[in-house]
Amino acid sequence: MKRKFTTKGETIRGKKISYDTSGYPRITINKVSTPIHLILWKETHGEIPNGCDIHHKDFNKKNYQIENLDLLTHQQHTRIHAGWIRDVNGIWIAKPCSKCNQILPLSEFWVRKKGDNSLLYSRCKRCHNDKEKMSKYYRTDKYREKNRIRLRKERAKIKLEKNENRKRN
Ligand SMILES: [Zn+2]
Ligand SMILES: [Zn+2]
Repeated sequence: MKRKFTTKGETIRGKKISYDTSGYPRITINKVSTPIHLILWKETHGEIPNGCDIHHKDFNKKNYQIENLDLLTHQQHTRIHAGWIRDVNGIWIAKPCSKCNQILPLSEFWVRKKGDNSLLYSRCKRCHNDKEKMSKYYRTDKYREKNRIRLRKERAKIKLEKNENRKRN
């Protein structure tokens, strides 16, 4: 548990609110410090099922109003914070590309394993193909020859520096 608290002088139900290092407001009941949003969620909806998280809909950790809280599976929660988009029915429709940062329909990403959307590549198809093209280029004779010349130059430079150092000492 995070122990470094900063108190801002606010209270809820007569208890002093502290903020933990992650920015969540907490109160201490019977010597146990708990984030307020978890207390309020449990009072209203009961225990949080295993593998589930409570998410702040407005992404404001300090806003523990019950309407701002949402019960999500851990996977849903991770995706929302990674910028994935759902439609009105809660179906995932888009996500950001880790290379070009554009938010694109899921069909713009290659699937690592058929039938499982959780295994989409992090780069969009275009960025993915660019990378493939580059790795193909790295295997060509043209690149190998260029690389040989570059390495030869670097080695020569190191040798030169070594010689100069020796002269100086
Ligand atoms: Zn969240
Ligand atoms: Zn991309």
